[in-house]
Amino acid sequence: MVSLLRLALATACLAVSLQAQVLTLTFDDGPNRVKTLLLSPGERNEGLLQALRKEKVHAIVFANGVDGGDTPEGREALAAWGREGHLVGNHTYSHLRLTDPASYQADVLRCDALIRTVPGYTRLFRFPYLKEGDTTAARDGMRKALAEAGYRNAHVTIPTFDWLLDERLRTRLRQDPRADLGPYRAYYVEHVLDQADRARALAQKLAGREVKHAILLHHCLLNALFLGDVIHALKVNGWSFVDPLEAYADPLYLEAPRGLDTGTSLLQALAREKGLLPTHLLGLEEAYDREKVALREAGL
Ligand SMILES: [Zn+2]
Repeated sequence: MVSLLRLALATACLAVSLQAQVLTLTFDDGPNRVKTLLLSPGERNEGLLQALRKEKVHAIVFANGVDGGDTPEGREALAAWGREGHLVGNHTYSHLRLTDPASYQADVLRCDALIRTVPGYTRLFRFPYLKEGDTTAARDGMRKALAEAGYRNAHVTIPTFDWLLDERLRTRLRQDPRADLGPYRAYYVEHVLDQADRARALAQKLAGREVKHAILLHHCLLNALFLGDVIHALKVNGWSFVDPLEAYADPLYLEAPRGLDTGTSLLQALAREKGLLPTHLLGLEEAYDREKVALREAGL
């Protein structure tokens, strides 16, 4: 009787965990040390780490050497992530777009040399602009080179326009250093929840199950200010957080989209291949235009 009850409980727990909305946080362009108003580069790095610490979430930062990454302060900023249990992955040294495979591969290895002694170093690679190459030869050559170097493509399933909102917020601060940032915070939190819901629905349509999502955010002022609010809102809306390696163990990430230079999330690329959504809904440019209109209407 007891064992039957236990079995029933275990089954119930399993059903709950199979239905869980799970994601991992990924930050591109770390550690961005470009000057901004409000917070110094060191304060921005600490702002991100503090939010993660407070919410007890482990994330991954994808590093570049440019924008201050390859300086003593930049290397120290990356090391701080590793020391707190986060992972440090590769985003190319120069934040390149893949046009010349040979120089691109060299740039990936240059970034690897920058991060390989940093605590938390892991061989996960994030393509800048989510673009894997605009010819079959470039794309397949890069896939082979990454595999040979022991790297995996750290795909994104939940894209966001945090970088665009960050740009708007910094512009606003230049116009008025004392501007009320409350509306930016509110817009951003809603945007992330909306993007996460859309990705969840798309995953259900594609895979017929909950997948372990990877959300794309950036190492920027916006997140240094509001990451805590975003994490909190996701939790309140039923999302839970897993470590990056646990998320990337989801078999979804073994998929290799056939499209070239998609610039979209893995789910969108796969959906496009399978004809699950009209192509015109998926382009980055269209989504970008839509977001710009929404921001304008919100007065941001
Ligand atoms: Zn980037």
